[in-house]
Amino acid sequence: MILKLEDIHGYYGKSHILQGISLQVAQGEVVTLLGRNGAGKTTTLKSIVGVVAPTQGKVLFQGDNVAGLPPHKIAARGVCLVPEHRGIFKLLTVEENLTMAARKESAWGLEDVYKIFPRLKERRKNGGGQLSGGEQQMLAIARALMTHPKVLMLDEPVEGLAPVIVDEIVAQIKLIKATGMSIILVEQNLEVCTQLADRHYIVEQGRIAYSGSNQEFLADDGVKDRYLGVN
Ligand code: ATP
Repeated sequence: MILKLEDIHGYYGKSHILQGISLQVAQGEVVTLLGRNGAGKTTTLKSIVGVVAPTQGKVLFQGDNVAGLPPHKIAARGVCLVPEHRGIFKLLTVEENLTMAARKESAWGLEDVYKIFPRLKERRKNGGGQLSGGEQQMLAIARALMTHPKVLMLDEPVEGLAPVIVDEIVAQIKLIKATGMSIILVEQNLEVCTQLADRHYIVEQGRIAYSGSNQEFLADDGVKDRYLGVN
């Protein structure tokens, strides 16, 4: 297992949001965190990168407990979160956004990310603020790759995007998966999730209410209705 969470608890102020999250991700695996709004999915990702410090439990990354380390130390080990609101630099060009994220030891150079995201190569001289929403999302993922992650976490990567762009980003995530990347995906679009994932977890009120392989999830008609309110 490249990443393992054991009984993680987390708070916002006095609100006990994460109430014992346990999950694991194998090398090269794509897992999703599903669940209703407010269930604690984003907070789980934040607890992994140290933005929300867990008050209890372990975050084992390659066997070391990183819970309690500051976010920059966890990032330096290779755990990278692409947040929901993208956070690219609008006044810098596409290429500047990419090169400023680059790390010397990274296996990912500009040409590697341009191979996955050819649109970014076409737009490399454009400012980040001139990109469409879909292109900004691609840039956010590409920039994360430049930091040489070992675990990539994507928070709602296709939210609000047109179906044709969603398909493009799904294909790009598949290419990233094919390189052996371990990925945690938080996403409301179930079709996207089932196209990409090996396994799914459902988060409910800060706990894992369900886990199963993609095949088990697809075959279980009740599960979506019970936990997600869809079918
Ligand atoms: P969503 O899809 O709505 O983002 P989520 O499962 O990712 O759902 P979280 O964002 O993890 O949910 O939020 C879990 C709970 O924590 C919610 O009740 C939310 O209102 C609360 N919460 C989130 N961020 C903060 C914050 N910065 N301060 C206080 N409470 C917060």
